[in-house]
Formats: sequence, C-alpha cells, structure tokens
Amino acid sequence: MIRRWLFADQLGPHFLDAPRQPVLLIESKSVFRRRAFHRQKAHLVLSALRHRAAELGDQAIFLRTDTYGEALRKVSGEPLDVCHPTSRRAREFVRGHDGVTVLPPRGFTTSPGDFVAWADGRHGRLRMEDFYRDARRRLDVLMDGDAPAGGTWNLDAENRQPPPSSGMPVPAPPMPVEDEIDEGVRADLDRWESEGIEFVGRDGPRLFPATRREALARLRHFVEHRLPAFGPYEDAMLAGDPWMAHSLLSAPLNLGLIDPLDAVHRAEAAYRSGAAPLSSVEGFVRQLIGWRDYIWHLYWYFGADYGAADGLRATRPVPSWFRALDADAVEARCLSDVLAGVRDRGWVHHIPRLMVLGNYALQRGWRPADLVDWFHRSFVDGYEWVMTANVVGMSQYADLGAMTTKPYAAGGAYINRMSDYCRGCRYDPRSRLGLNACPYTAGYWAFLDRNRGRLRGNARLGQAMRQLDRIDDLPAVRAQERDRGDEAP
Ligand SMILES: Cc1cc2nc3c(=O)[nH]c(=O)nc-3n(C[C@H](O)[C@H](O)[C@H](O)COP(=O)(O)OP(=O)(O)OC[C@H]3O[C@@H](n4cnc5c(N)ncnc54)[C@H](O)[C@@H]3O)c2cc1C
Ligand code: SF4
Repeated sequence: MIRRWLFADQLGPHFLDAPRQPVLLIESKSVFRRRAFHRQKAHLVLSALRHRAAELGDQAIFLRTDTYGEALRKVSGEPLDVCHPTSRRAREFVRGHDGVTVLPPRGFTTSPGDFVAWADGRHGRLRMEDFYRDARRRLDVLMDGDAPAGGTWNLDAENRQPPPSSGMPVPAPPMPVEDEIDEGVRADLDRWESEGIEFVGRDGPRLFPATRREALARLRHFVEHRLPAFGPYEDAMLAGDPWMAHSLLSAPLNLGLIDPLDAVHRAEAAYRSGAAPLSSVEGFVRQLIGWRDYIWHLYWYFGADYGAADGLRATRPVPSWFRALDADAVEARCLSDVLAGVRDRGWVHHIPRLMVLGNYALQRGWRPADLVDWFHRSFVDGYEWVMTANVVGMSQYADLGAMTTKPYAAGGAYINRMSDYCRGCRYDPRSRLGLNACPYTAGYWAFLDRNRGRLRGNARLGQAMRQLDRIDDLPAVRAQERDRGDEAP
C-alpha cells in the first residue's frame, strides 16, 4: 500500500485508507521561523503531530527537519500520496514534487464538486443560508423526509439570547492532561525562543485536544452536557466565562482529529433522543456543515486574489498594541478582556472575534490583509483557509458583500445587550461624544460616515444611514474619533 504523507492538520483515522497504511509525518521548524505564531498554537500543533507519531509507532516514518523539502529528500524513491492540503502554498508545494500523488480533500462534509455545482448555479449570489439548506438535504441531516426537522430550517431567532445573569448553566469543559510529549514540546519551544524564533501570547497549560482520544472526550462531554445550552447563548459573552456553552472543537477539527460529520451525527442523535433541543442542535449543525464548509470552499472558489480584497479602502496598519496582544494598554473593558483572552489562551469564541476584535478593526479602517495574518498567527485554531473568508469577507466586508449582506459593524449597544462588559467599563455605551464616549458607539457612526458612498446602496443599512443623517453632533464625533485614531482605547 502506498505511503500516505499526513500534514499536521490531517491527523485523524479518516485521512488513512486502512488502519495499517504506512505513513510519513514531517515536523518542519522553518514554518515557525517565517512568522510569529501564538506560543500555545505552536505547542498544540507540535504536540498533536508528535502524539500521532507516537501512536503510529513503526507504521510511520517521522522526520523532524528544517524544511519539508529536506524531509522529502530523505524518503525520495518511495512513492507517496497525500490528501489535498489546506493552503495554496502547500498545494503548490506537493504538486511540484514528482512521485507525490494528490488525493481529494478530506475532513469536510461537502465535496469540491458539489460546492462548485451549487455556487455556479447561484449566479454571483452566494449566501451561507442557501448553501446550508442544500447541504442539509444532500447529507440528510436534521431532515424529516423532504422537510427540515421541526418544520423550520433556521432557529436563529431563538438563539440570540443575552447571557443569563446567574452564569451559564453548564459544567466546564474537560481539559487535557499534559504528558511527557508536552514536556518535550515545551522544552523545544523554550530552546527555539532562546535561538531567536519569536512567538506571540503567553505560554500556559495545553487547553485543546492534541489526540483523537482527547478530542472525542471533549466532543462526548459537549454533546452530553453543554449542547443543550449552546443555541440560546451562542452569541452571548460574560467577562468571567470565556467558554460559555461553546464546543471548543475548532482546534481538534482543524487538526483533523475528528470528522465533522461524526460530530454532526452525534448532535442529531441527541435531538432525536430528546436529550437536546432542536434550537441548539440546529445551531451547532449550522456551524459545522454550514459555516465551516462554506468558509473552506470559498477560500478556493474566490481565488488567490480574494485575500487582498479591500473594497472599503481600509489602509491603516494594525497598531502595535493590538499586534502584541497588549490587553493592559486598553481601558475599554470588552476589548481589554477579549485581547487578554487571545494573549492567555489563543482562543475566544465567535462573537468576541467578530463583534469585539473584528468590529473594532473595521471601524478604525485597519488593513484586512494584515488582520488575516494577525488572526492566523494569534489563534490556536487559525489556518489560512479559515481566516480568509472569515476575516476579509465576514468580519471586514472588504469584498463589499460577496459573502454577507451587510458589514458586521455595531456600536456599544450591541455589546451591552449581549454581555456584562459595559457595567464595569469607564466608557458609556450610550454616549458617542465626550470623555466617556464609548469607542465602539462613536466608532460606529464614524465608520458609517467615512463609508457613506461605498455603503449607500446597501438596503440593510438604509435605516442606519437615515439615522446618521439626523445626527447633529456628527462633525464633533468625526473629529473626536480622528483624534482617538489607532491609540489603544
Ligand atoms: C474574524 C473571525 C476569525 C475566525 N477565525 C477562525 C479560525 O481561525 N479558525 C476557526 O476554526 N474558526 C474561526 N472563526 C470561526 C469561529 O469563530 C470559530 O470556529 C469558533 O469560535 C471556534 O470555537 P468553538 O469550537 O467553540 O465553536 P462553536 O461555536 O462550538 O461552533 C462549532 C464549530 O463550528 C465551526 N465554525 C463555526 N463558525 C465557523 C466559521 N465562521 N468558520 C469556520 N468554522 C466555523 C467550528 O469548527 C466550530 O468548532 C473565525 C470567525 C471570525 C469572525
Ligand atoms: S462601554 Fe463600550 S468600550 Fe466599554 S465595555 Fe461597553 S462597548 Fe466596550
């Protein structure tokens, strides 16, 4: 049987054709020299790769080299195959090697052929909701015959509740226990740092699964104990609870440790048995067969130039305090807490990413391509494929609506409704002018004002634009936000 070269994000059994298939694993140090990744992300990836090598034993050749090319030269002569890699750069690299056969991608739920057939039929109107419904039918997930389970496709309206004042009604997620492989990784990373390789963020105990066993334990615990509360509080934030009822599965999913369809089937079984309500299960299924696959396919479908899209002409560099995850420099309570979460864990959930970090960058006009790089490096689950459409399209609206219907820009009122941040903040979410003006509220109006021309035709912003026209202190807000600029708020 031909030897399967597994990249570090292809570590689960579904990337092999048979349990005893011979394997090649490569740990390349030069990857960490190219850009400064979060220390905990570097730890997780190396730990996962080394754990997989240990599990496979003599079934795998495990090479630790400076570059992939150096490793491949050591095994030249033996034919290899590899599942389609997850970045353009890696795809070009494997295609350029004689003796390496590239197979279709694995680890996603919709095939490239099915996506392209769907997207080409949409005549330029690509919307996640349409793709998701198509995927539900095609994969026969949460369907009762030809109709959606419970008679409705979308339970978003039930899933936008503010956080409960008494805290989340769920047990904390189980955390992995580090072992001697983690000890070795930590010692190597300390040594690499002393040699001059740079990382961002703080080191800390490993919080995300590095093995299939750990990943399945987290998935089982989520479905049994946390899934029922996932839906209603999906968008809510609490300063003292970074995890809420989220699954914390993006890192193991993106390492290829679990198959997304397996996770979906387990969630559906919880609904069918009455253990979890439809709103939560539908919300979770939507994230996996909807958003995750949609984002993956758009990375390829939109082409290489999409990553450089800048429809809103956002040209300001990401400031140094943000790049360095300097949460202590920030007084705005929401942004400080979220930036500290990135610094200390390399992870915050979807709404802090979109409505606190991304929203601030959007309002200030920071360069989308710089943000793609920042998110990619700073998050434990960050990969180029998942960053591009999430940041360029969804968060920064740099594609002017190719994948969303309006920019995810919002003032402090949204953050106040969906979190407990504003109560302890020196700013006032209702105020747009003066010493206690909320930087998000003032920034929102300044953003709309700056982009009037580019956003004027957007029907979903019609009401906000009419409100903007009625703001009598707009010139003062404009000047105030110009002065605030890119300083830490
Ligand atoms: C600006 C921005 C950057 C993001 N960067 C990443 C990233 O680097 N890596 C990443 O995996 N996700 C990213 N996301 C999507 C999403 O925020 C994370 O997948 C999620 O917060 C991970 O936490 P979780 O596993 O608890 O997810 P849950 O809330 O429990 O959701 C379940 C799963 O759905 C999938 N999912 C949900 N939304 C998305 C999405 N928009 N894109 C891809 N998968 C999705 C993830 O695999 C996730 O594990 C980003 C979103 C935004 C707005
Ligand atoms: S008042 Fe504004 S800056 Fe402060 S926490 Fe609320 S939204 Fe954030």
